[in-house]
Amino acid sequence: MKKLFGILLLLNFTLFSQPNYTILISFDGFRHDYMERGLTPTLKEIEKNGVRAASLRPVYPSKTFPNHYSIITGLYPENHGIIANTFYDPQTDETYTIGDSTKVTNAKWYTGEAFWETAQRNGIIAASYFWPGSEVKLDYRRPRYYMKYDHDRPYKTRVDGVIDWLKLPYSERPRFITLYFDAADSYGHNYGPDSDSLNHAIGILDRITSYLLSRLPETGIEDSVNLIFVSDHGMTQVDTSKYIDVEQIIGNEYKVKFWNWGTFVLIQPEKDQTEAVYKKLKQNEKHFKSYRKDEIPDFYHFSSSPLLSDIILVSDLGWEIGTTAHRKRYIKWNAHGNHGFEKDQLDMHGFFLAAGPDFRKGYKTGTLWNIDIYPLLCEIFGIPVRSNIDGRAERIRFLLTKNAF
Ligand code: AMP
Ligand code: ZN
Ligand code: ZN
Repeated sequence: MKKLFGILLLLNFTLFSQPNYTILISFDGFRHDYMERGLTPTLKEIEKNGVRAASLRPVYPSKTFPNHYSIITGLYPENHGIIANTFYDPQTDETYTIGDSTKVTNAKWYTGEAFWETAQRNGIIAASYFWPGSEVKLDYRRPRYYMKYDHDRPYKTRVDGVIDWLKLPYSERPRFITLYFDAADSYGHNYGPDSDSLNHAIGILDRITSYLLSRLPETGIEDSVNLIFVSDHGMTQVDTSKYIDVEQIIGNEYKVKFWNWGTFVLIQPEKDQTEAVYKKLKQNEKHFKSYRKDEIPDFYHFSSSPLLSDIILVSDLGWEIGTTAHRKRYIKWNAHGNHGFEKDQLDMHGFFLAAGPDFRKGYKTGTLWNIDIYPLLCEIFGIPVRSNIDGRAERIRFLLTKNAF
């Protein structure tokens, strides 16, 4: 009898000492101010019961893959390896691009430790219903449950998948789950951040949140679930006439290779031509800035990447930069919104909203940094934060009830 009591006590202790469940939900491209348009009753209700930040500062470049991977690793792109959605590795002569699943699933590109790896190293099961980096082909670097990215997968199916995971038997149930929706980004690009169509996308995202909330009680653990909503970046209005044609500026005099375009360009001139090409660009600096590799300002957190070339050009907010051929594609694309610009431009800031047993209630705070979400997750799960990351628990832990003072 005494023994049985002991076992029950131990079981009880184990059950109660387990951390809560946490779902990290990304609304791609959901700008910090979209919740102020009167279109998000569900998110507003969550705000009342949880924590809302003025904005979430992205990392440079404010693109989807670099930022999702910074959120999940606590590292700047120069340290986690994914410096753009598409980039070239001069060491191996290979190009990484998010549309190529052989690249996206190859673990060698990802030089950070994602939170699902940290969690599983600590005996916490993780799952991902989409997240950049979650599909790598090495079992030990991947969440136990994951999905191959499918842009067209219906949103309800994604939520149903998460609910199914939360209904798994206790010993198989994930405690950390990621979930991803693209609508604000897709509509933002196509129609612009101030369009009715974008507002329609905001409505879609609010309704899918409501659907998630309506289904959580079926799991019986709804009171132990934290929801953290984030976005990877914001969106700004663009028009295709704002284009910087770098080939035209450099002219035919020099031989150069271009390795990226959009909001920044990597340029590798032929041997001995770097200084001359740099000078030419510097003289023509209008709506962009040119840097030699070793003079990129620290605030980009970019310069220690081994993937950079000799010259880097960064465009101003709203300006697209690249080659003549890319200009043609850009005009054809006819986008009304874009991102990728400097992280301190407010239009590039995403949103942060969280609620659940670990979060303070009705608490509003200023701008948070997205690299601090990884240490926040460590704190929620009681995992000591490694010191070799860029994120800092000190900047964000005050959001949690246990650290409220
Ligand atoms: P961008 O706006 O160019 O930074 O990228 C946004 C696009 O990234 C979205 O439209 C998605 O289709 C794509 N995307 C998001 N997550 C993933 C993923 N896990 N795997 C592949 N593509 C993704
Ligand atoms: Zn994005
Ligand atoms: Zn986008």
